[in-house]
Amino acid sequence: MNTEDKRPKRAGRDLSSLRGTASGGVHLPGDEEYDRARTTWALAVDLRPAAVAFPADAAEVAAVVRAAAAAGLRVAPLGTGHNAHPLGDLSGSVLTRMSGMTGIEIDAGARRARAEAGVLWSAVVDAAAAYGLAALHGSSPDAGVVGYSLGGGVSWYGRSLGLASNSVTAVELVTADGSPTRVDAEHEPELFWAVRGGGGANFGVVTAIEFTLYPIETAYAGMLVWDLRDAHRVLSRWARWAADAPDAVTTSYRHLEYPPIPEIPEPFRGRRLVVVDGAVLADDAEAERILAPLRELGPETDTFGRVPAASLMRLHLDPERPTPGGGRSSLLDELPPAAVDRLIEVAGADSGNSLFMKAELRQLGGALGRSQPGAGATARLDGRFQLITGGMMVGELAERTVADCERVVTAMAPYSRGRQYLNFQEEPVDPSTGYDAPTWEELLRIRKAVDPGGLFQANHEIPHL
Ligand SMILES: Cc1cc2nc3c(=O)[nH]c(=O)nc-3n(C[C@H](O)[C@H](O)[C@H](O)COP(=O)(O)OP(=O)(O)OC[C@H]3O[C@@H](n4cnc5c(N)ncnc54)[C@H](O)[C@@H]3O)c2cc1C
Repeated sequence: MNTEDKRPKRAGRDLSSLRGTASGGVHLPGDEEYDRARTTWALAVDLRPAAVAFPADAAEVAAVVRAAAAAGLRVAPLGTGHNAHPLGDLSGSVLTRMSGMTGIEIDAGARRARAEAGVLWSAVVDAAAAYGLAALHGSSPDAGVVGYSLGGGVSWYGRSLGLASNSVTAVELVTADGSPTRVDAEHEPELFWAVRGGGGANFGVVTAIEFTLYPIETAYAGMLVWDLRDAHRVLSRWARWAADAPDAVTTSYRHLEYPPIPEIPEPFRGRRLVVVDGAVLADDAEAERILAPLRELGPETDTFGRVPAASLMRLHLDPERPTPGGGRSSLLDELPPAAVDRLIEVAGADSGNSLFMKAELRQLGGALGRSQPGAGATARLDGRFQLITGGMMVGELAERTVADCERVVTAMAPYSRGRQYLNFQEEPVDPSTGYDAPTWEELLRIRKAVDPGGLFQANHEIPHL
């Protein structure tokens, strides 16, 4: 695969034509605001773009795209930066930040939302909840709706309702010729297929998306907590249970370490824990029946109960501010007893892993593993579990964190076919591992047709050459 950009180098270029294209500001190296402008949610990622633009609407996005192309620069659209880690060299690119575009419309009758490209999930969840509706958000309140949804989108409703990308009903984007366009099942269906799972930035700058909302007002949700010393017992049961559980339930299994600081509430402060959290879309009696095999293990904390659907936004306690973190991930096909033993060895209480490192397994399968009619390029996730490892990427700790995360992913490699869910990949990987072979061929063809000059730079980039 050749992703090398063959266009002329851009040193000494006059970028003054970019100024004035975006009313939220255009910042070049040397400008007072440049460092603030290039800082994203992923604090450990040091992006050094040729310019940073903050457009306020689709017309300004189009102006940025045209000015960048005229100056021989590429365009790298970014929402929050939750997955900025794999973005390569931006020295020839305009980092196009969407944070100024925060409009949300809810059509309660049609059960549909339209969110501009700077909208964060927490805002959509609150707006939809006012109408008794829920969206297929993930665990991070301040992740972007666009990057998450167009990369796939695994939510607490995922095993019941599938990937978020397959609930996207229309995408508005500015393509390489600088023209705003709206694609859906009737208009440019090929491009509509490609952006839903192929990642927006491989085809343009997305300015807004529309997606289905679901009539979910409450869920049976919460967390079960044990000491990390119980990990083998809990993981053995969870792995067996998760493989056969009904589609109504979606959970995560995690090893967590909390620092001994006052900000952490007392039962968790300074502790190393096993946490199983998640949600069940069923009545209380059915939910209790489904969760009974896990509760039998006697967790020291059990918060599962009927809760407003909007509270799932913060169920996982993900950080809601920029974070110097990062990690490694992979899709696993199975977790037989030998895999459980191995994971406890490399990520359990005696593994010697770095401080505050997280090891997590998301329960996939159910509707996340089935293609639906009319689905996009990521129709399903080809794995039963998503392994996620992560930790602090600051100073000397960064090297240690990467080594520990890689050790865990490598140890679990015998249970993986090397397929990836790219949204969770926080390092550059071969993007073809995110798709089956026919889908990849089709994505290559559409990328070449829509962006033959490789104007757009994505975090997980489909080659244009
Ligand atoms: C703490 C945390 C929790 C997470 N939880 C979940 C989860 O529960 N489920 C899940 O599925 N994933 C989860 N993720 C992964 C998440 O889906 C990705 O990080 C995703 O990229 C976030 O979207 P974003 O727009 O904020 O990303 P950004 O980092 O802003 O963008 C990532 C990429 O998306 C594309 N993109 C973004 N905006 C645009 C645009 N306007 N036009 C074109 N392309 C665009 C670009 O290729 C860009 O490089 C989590 C990540 C983190 C860090």
